[in-house]
Amino acid sequence: DRQATKPGLTLLIAAPRGFCAGVDRAIEIVERALEKYGAPVYVRHEIVHNKFVVDGLRAKGAIFVEELEDVPDDAPVVFSAHGVPKTVPAEAERRKLIYVDATCPLVSKVHRQAERQIERDRHIIFIGHAGHPEVVGTMGQVEPGQMTLVEEAADVAKLDFPRDAELAFLTQTTLSVDDTEDVIAALKERYPDIVGPKADDICYATSNRQAAVKQIAPASDLVLVIGSPNSSNSLRLVEVAERCGTAAKLILRAADIDPAWLEGVGTIGLTAGASAPEQLVREVVDKLGEWRDVREETLSSAVENMVFKLPRQLMD
Ligand code: SF4
Repeated sequence: DRQATKPGLTLLIAAPRGFCAGVDRAIEIVERALEKYGAPVYVRHEIVHNKFVVDGLRAKGAIFVEELEDVPDDAPVVFSAHGVPKTVPAEAERRKLIYVDATCPLVSKVHRQAERQIERDRHIIFIGHAGHPEVVGTMGQVEPGQMTLVEEAADVAKLDFPRDAELAFLTQTTLSVDDTEDVIAALKERYPDIVGPKADDICYATSNRQAAVKQIAPASDLVLVIGSPNSSNSLRLVEVAERCGTAAKLILRAADIDPAWLEGVGTIGLTAGASAPEQLVREVVDKLGEWRDVREETLSSAVENMVFKLPRQLMD
């Protein structure tokens, strides 16, 4: 055998990884809207934060825009999985647009909680990352001044509500489980009467993916996270790996892997954010296989069987 033998590489693949039920549903909503209404279907904001997914839907006739004013009067529009401020459906109705809301039901649940707390005359402390579309959407469920954003535990000390203020907290769905625990602990210390969800509003997919990374990272020399730089849950996976003491890289797809990263590396951990398709995972496995003799192992820490119903208007 004259073929040079490739050095070995153990690949620890995290499970669960990749698409969550909210992302599956959002993509199916755009596909069904294209079938029902015909192309073009407008989508306000990236339907999910993944270029590969967006490009695929664009090829089928979706047009992505950032604002409703970029949607013509006679075209249907889909709102992204991250959710939108109340002003967006209100404006769509005023313009008599056909719209389909692909907001993840777990984000909508937080929206309803926000309304409920305001009805009970509580000011809301919202834990999230400034500027993320989910945060813009959730803060846009209430009137300006009814919700205050807190990004990290240190921000809690800067709040100037009296200790006995009527407060409630809510969280973004794609936060770091560990960091959020710290922020909530700081809130409860400063405001012992603050009310909120049992733990937080971090979704099952976010927490499962973080727990799965905690399983693979300690045994890996390098962790690769497939995801986009604007994907909150993917960024958190990189942080989780790094906090286990393992170097981690966020990659969009296989082509982003620098072969120099593999020097001295015997085990790679691999995962994908909730908006990254499984196809990109296979692509990375194949790419690594070009350089190394890969031995693949999947480490499963949870089984997911969540499925969300489609909006009624697309069910026929
Ligand atoms: Fe819904 Fe969680 Fe997926 Fe976001 S990451 S779309 S909240 S299931």
